[in-house]
Amino acid sequence: VDDARIALKTLADRVEGLAHPTLRLGVTGLSRAGKTIFTTALIHALTRGGRLPVFEAMQSGRIASAELQPQPDDAVPRFAYEDHLRTLAQARAWPSSTTRVSELRLAIRYATARGSVRTLTLDLVDYPGEWLLDLPLLDMSYAAFARQSLALARAPARALVAAPWLAALDAAPPNGPADEAKAREVAALFTAYLSACRTEKLAMSLLPPGRFLMPGDLEGSPALTFAPLDMAEDAPRAGTLGAMMERRFEAYKNAVVRPFFRNHFARLDRQIVLVDTLAALNAGPAALADLERALDGILAAFRTGRNSLVSTLFRPRIEKVLFAATKADHLHRQSHDRLEAILARLVERAKARAQDRGAALDVVALAAIRATREARVRRDGHELDAIVGTPEAGQEASGHVFDGTEEMAVFPGDLPADPDSLFDPSGAGFRGLASAADGDVDFRFLRFRPPAGIGAGPLPHIRLDRALQFLLGDRLA
Ligand code: GDP
Repeated sequence: VDDARIALKTLADRVEGLAHPTLRLGVTGLSRAGKTIFTTALIHALTRGGRLPVFEAMQSGRIASAELQPQPDDAVPRFAYEDHLRTLAQARAWPSSTTRVSELRLAIRYATARGSVRTLTLDLVDYPGEWLLDLPLLDMSYAAFARQSLALARAPARALVAAPWLAALDAAPPNGPADEAKAREVAALFTAYLSACRTEKLAMSLLPPGRFLMPGDLEGSPALTFAPLDMAEDAPRAGTLGAMMERRFEAYKNAVVRPFFRNHFARLDRQIVLVDTLAALNAGPAALADLERALDGILAAFRTGRNSLVSTLFRPRIEKVLFAATKADHLHRQSHDRLEAILARLVERAKARAQDRGAALDVVALAAIRATREARVRRDGHELDAIVGTPEAGQEASGHVFDGTEEMAVFPGDLPADPDSLFDPSGAGFRGLASAADGDVDFRFLRFRPPAGIGAGPLPHIRLDRALQFLLGDRLA
């Protein structure tokens, strides 16, 4: 039934696409990866232009106009572009982040290379990457999900924050009675454990089920009151706590994951996955390894549904995937290629599989909105490469608390030239990073305010034009 519905929607989209060429671009990434900022910057670049040398259609002047239009899906919130831009321009503050799916439609009028005038309808769909990481659950039984969750929780990096939840499991045997209070208690502890894994210090990425951290409009609903139990058997007996949890897990898949897949994910043509690679590097080897597993899961999600009726009736929908390391403005120019190389290394295994299926995949390091500039600064008799920005009020470095008006030069140091060193079990690559972090201050934890002067001209960025060229270039040729 699901496949048939997706096929119908796909068909409807295609018919619509014949009359009006349309591209549905998904913007995703885990919480705080930079989705809101990227989507805002992308809309700004298309509607207002900017310095975008690599984005050929814009550079050559073939884009006549790009206008916001009413979006196609009435039941999906609109991406609050104007509000976000106002926050950036007037408050010089970052807007609030993505917590649910939102959409925005742009009509791009352009001249083809041969000179005829066309319109491309671009539908942007911004949604939490946590929800994407739920798709692998569709192929998983409750027992398998529980076992995977427990294995992750018992790994050294997570064991400490998992302790309260794991301890409660001793008093919640799967064969015990189905007790609502017990179910709620374990679910609350499990949710607290997932949140603790997301803190800056641990920066774990693979934390399903996604709605536990990003509930959207499901906050507090019964679909979210289940948790993995220590399952010895595959099929819990009727009337037990295990059976109750299993039923809710299946309900979660049916009521949450399947509709997301059908209504949003299955209809995307292209996808950008934003990755806060620097946050993982800051947190250390375990965070990086966890990010790699999560990215694997994300690429697995792009395969979901490929062996179904949909794929036999239609060509695979997602034709291009771009992985983007965000916030590259926290690094000096010399390290941008290195950041890109680290992300490429993270998706290497997954990349081979995606290409097997004919989807083009690329990697870029970017800053959708650049909050820093580069400078040469003398320190201890040496000229050093620095980046200069305005730390947000309340940020702290070397005991100084910033008030949000002072500029500061930081010395980002270099990322390793050989990304493999970061994956070396000896941790050698990370020791290099630590010494580059300039003594007691780890600059990469500093959050800078957005640049001053937003609203007047184009937005400053790093390599946004490369992302635009990969994602849109061929459709505007
Ligand atoms: P989302 O949760 O994926 O929607 O993340 P946001 O787009 O809201 O970004 C989260 C935070 O990351 C922002 O509040 C900024 O502090 C920071 N950020 C995102 N993009 C950039 C960027 O291009 N440059 C800098 N310096 N910070 C960024």
